[in-house]
Amino acid sequence: MVNAFTIELDDWAHGLLGGETPITSRVVGNVERMLALLERHNVKATFFALGKVCEKFPELLPRVAACGHEIASHGYGHDLVYSMTPESFREDVRRSVDLIGEQTGAAPVGYRAPAFSITRQSLWAGPILAELGFKYSSSIFPIRGSRYGIAGAPAFPFNWEDWLTAGEAGVPAAVGKPEARSPKPDLIEFPMTTLAFAGRRWPVCGGGYLRLLPACFLKAAVRQAHRQGQPAVVYMHPYELDVCEVSELERAGWRFGRKTALTQSLFRCFIRRRLADIFRTFKFAPMREVLGV
Ligand SMILES: [Zn+2]
Repeated sequence: MVNAFTIELDDWAHGLLGGETPITSRVVGNVERMLALLERHNVKATFFALGKVCEKFPELLPRVAACGHEIASHGYGHDLVYSMTPESFREDVRRSVDLIGEQTGAAPVGYRAPAFSITRQSLWAGPILAELGFKYSSSIFPIRGSRYGIAGAPAFPFNWEDWLTAGEAGVPAAVGKPEARSPKPDLIEFPMTTLAFAGRRWPVCGGGYLRLLPACFLKAAVRQAHRQGQPAVVYMHPYELDVCEVSELERAGWRFGRKTALTQSLFRCFIRRRLADIFRTFKFAPMREVLGV
């Protein structure tokens, strides 16, 4: 079974503080670190590129694409989908599509929402992505979370239209009604892989979860998916390989809360080893290949 390995091409400080926070040049070195690690383990991945990062460092996407990785969209400004209007969301995503097209010569077919922010409040985003030409989204965390997640959403790849039509538990009835859907969302969703345990689904397959928890939790979730004949998805950010980022930014005068600085930098030193272990254990490919779109 081949799984999807995905990278959100973000800059840490901008992703955390948002708004007008400048994109730092650390993202360039961090992407190089990620590319070197992937090459060492012969893994091809999907990079969900943030428009603001690509705009500031236009050499990044051609470099990533030349290494054989898929380029997909992470939107333009990293605004949370549920904090935008459908119109501003459409503009944000379209701007990122244009940038990716200009820099790589190809339109992206995949999209990941900033901070998995397609939730019950923003299910209107699926039809808009389909309308913009996307073939897949990987934006839903099928968990009950405080900032993101749709508890009861399917745990494995599904078709948005089937899902909305079925009006399954957890989907507002209004969205499930055919007349509320326009245009037809011919779009696949690859939800984040979770670990089913004690009657709930738990997030373990990437980012801070892989930093803070031993890799055995991620491995268990991937194996659960495989037992059901389903691929898994693992996600990371280039900055998670940047062990000294938080302390060096603080020395340079940036100010983060004590708790934020600790929780965001803790165990970054373990990530390289954990990823090497995961790459040796499972097979990975870009999401587009895994979904066959
Ligand atoms: Zn992000």
